[in-house]
Amino acid sequence: MISQTDRDICMSPWEGPGDSPGAVAPPIFQTSLFAKPTFAEYARQQAAEHHNFVYSRGTNPTVAFLEQLLARLERGEAAKCFASGMGAISAVLGGLLRSGDHVLFVNTIYGPTLQLAEHLRRFGVEYTLLPEPTADIEDHLRENTAMVYVESPGTMMMKVLDLRVLAATARRHGIRTVIDNTWATPLLQKPIELGVDVVIHSLTKYIGGHSDVIGGAVIGSADLIEELFYRGYLLFGSVMSAMEASFVLRGLRTLPVRMEQHEANAIAVIDHLRGREEVTAIHHPYADHPADSPLVTEQLAGYSGLLSFELAEPTYDRIAGFVDALELFRIGPSWGGYESLVTSPIRPTSTPEPPASLIRLSVGLEGAQRQIEDLDHAFAAIR
Ligand SMILES: *Cc1c(COP(=O)(O)O)cnc(C)c1O
Repeated sequence: MISQTDRDICMSPWEGPGDSPGAVAPPIFQTSLFAKPTFAEYARQQAAEHHNFVYSRGTNPTVAFLEQLLARLERGEAAKCFASGMGAISAVLGGLLRSGDHVLFVNTIYGPTLQLAEHLRRFGVEYTLLPEPTADIEDHLRENTAMVYVESPGTMMMKVLDLRVLAATARRHGIRTVIDNTWATPLLQKPIELGVDVVIHSLTKYIGGHSDVIGGAVIGSADLIEELFYRGYLLFGSVMSAMEASFVLRGLRTLPVRMEQHEANAIAVIDHLRGREEVTAIHHPYADHPADSPLVTEQLAGYSGLLSFELAEPTYDRIAGFVDALELFRIGPSWGGYESLVTSPIRPTSTPEPPASLIRLSVGLEGAQRQIEDLDHAFAAIR
């Protein structure tokens, strides 16, 4: 259940600066800089750039309004938006880690995040990957572990971690925890309430929701966001524009109703896939856990529409044949938009073993009946 508090936050009227008599949509501050009345005032504001509108590589009122809403949705003190999810991730890893630090990645992690971690080796940052969805991380922590970075649910196998246990373990060792919360959105999971320190989102997915904007965000304590602002944000320069922020704000208005529909459609699709003999496994919290499992009831307020499944006899030709036979589900990367999408990590050369044999569906808003018909049509095509 999405709370009324969160619905209210998504609907918040514009509270930013400027004279906007009755404007229902947040004004787009399409300006690179903000001139000041005196030099003294300029100097004062520039000395605390994260609090003042000085230059749009730093802060901008349209972007700041979005940041305020995202921080409130995640129950964090502050947020910073970025030009992409990867911009947010590179700011967190590159801006907060030092040479000699070690990062522990837990669960299935977004591929480019691990590629970035590999790149950071040249700056003296080490990492290990624990691909299982386990909160039992104690034995994998090192003397120099500075960050535990997780995805839960992940976005390939959708496995869920016990975030409360994981965050408490890391905290006992004085280690910062970071989660990529993109699958659940802030409406369905609030990691900060479970003890996690830093939340990352790709706004490109459900929060934007219309497949027309790329963006990212980081939410955490005011101190952490300030530290991030002056290092990973201002210096790396992965800046969200006012125009993009207005697209994401429009997405937020309908996020609660969209997530409810994605959930309803995904549940109907999963219930149908369960009855298909060609499907050997389905990966999604609704399929993996009983509805009353504490891991689900205590962490997730609902389900999103990204799932994967495995075909019987998962050869490349069968998977490509199935994907090509779909018509409603379009072939492409990304997910979380209004439209249904399909992809698979399988490649012609790879061995037909999970997880390479997965088919991943982003169940859109077209309606479960249409989606199920399309899937049945594709099953018939590979018979
Ligand atoms: C898409 C995605 C990202 C990266 O976001 P971009 O906006 O594409 O840079 C990060 N994490 C997850 C889980 C994603 O799905």
